[in-house]
Amino acid sequence: MNEKLSIVIPVFDEAENIERLYSEITQTLSDPGYEYEIVFVDDGSRDKGLQKLLALRESDDRVKIISFRKNFGQTAALSAGFDCAQGEIVVTMDADLQNDPADIPILLGKIEEGYDLVSGWRYDRQDKWLSRRLPSVLANKLISWATDVKLNDYGCTLKAIKREVVKNITLYGELHRFIPAIASWMGVRIAEVKVNHRPRVAGQSKYGISRAFRVLLDLVTVKFLLSYSGRPIQFFGIPGLISGLLGGALAVYLTIQRVFMGIPLGDRPILLLAVLLILIGVQFVVFGLLGELQTRTYYESLDKPIYFIKDKYGID
Ligand code: UDP
Ligand code: MG
Repeated sequence: MNEKLSIVIPVFDEAENIERLYSEITQTLSDPGYEYEIVFVDDGSRDKGLQKLLALRESDDRVKIISFRKNFGQTAALSAGFDCAQGEIVVTMDADLQNDPADIPILLGKIEEGYDLVSGWRYDRQDKWLSRRLPSVLANKLISWATDVKLNDYGCTLKAIKREVVKNITLYGELHRFIPAIASWMGVRIAEVKVNHRPRVAGQSKYGISRAFRVLLDLVTVKFLLSYSGRPIQFFGIPGLISGLLGGALAVYLTIQRVFMGIPLGDRPILLLAVLLILIGVQFVVFGLLGELQTRTYYESLDKPIYFIKDKYGID
């Protein structure tokens, strides 16, 4: 392995874990074949974490530190790390020692095989069953079903990702969990490997059960962006058309009955249904059109391509 590595680690109140984490990483990567930097992103920690990081940097300038003014969240921290990472391969991991740095070479081996993104699978996860593992099993099933990327463990931060992938994804909200799904849009080759998972010994977990609901909403966003962001009219327009046509047919039927058979309209609830369906139909089609306008503004103002090129031959 002679390409440079960037280990990106979000850190929020993990002071007691930092020194051991650093020594485990440097031990694993002590083989002279590895050239690397460790980018710690201090996400507004309120403990002595930043001092500990600065102390590490005193003696090792492969330690790079980004310090946030306040707690912006794990996604923001990863994103800042991605922006600054200089390596050809970016490895992400948690700071709490639940991920095992000894697994890094396994991930890198897969990258060498030609994969663009290798994700860890905590097959023997050391977390609480009811509040963590059960929701996670359901979430993984759901995300795999909704996106085209079938993974057993979406929640594992331990990943190795090629630079060109990392530099081309923008993360918002809490979307770091969906990095493989978002990257799949570019057509990257994704592998999953079993990794070690250890119980948290120091510090506290930053998340509770409410995360399950937020993940669910994020999944809706990701699914929409992946499948329909380039063609919102398809997403809204099809249900809109179905609803409008059904409503229209009902209205015609009621009109015929009223005009030709003299059946009164006033006391028929089905009339309400017809009106409702027509209104929903019109609204959905209009949503779709607005979405199309938005999409154009989005892609054109940001100069975002609607494709992603792997190689070019004979073209500069
Ligand atoms: N983290 C962060 N900002 C936050 C929350 C968490 O940088 O707002 C970091 C945290 O320090 C750890 C990683 O993200 O390195 C994962 O957090 P945690 O271990 O609490 O999550 P869990 O393993 O319980 O899912
Ligand atoms: Mg953890």
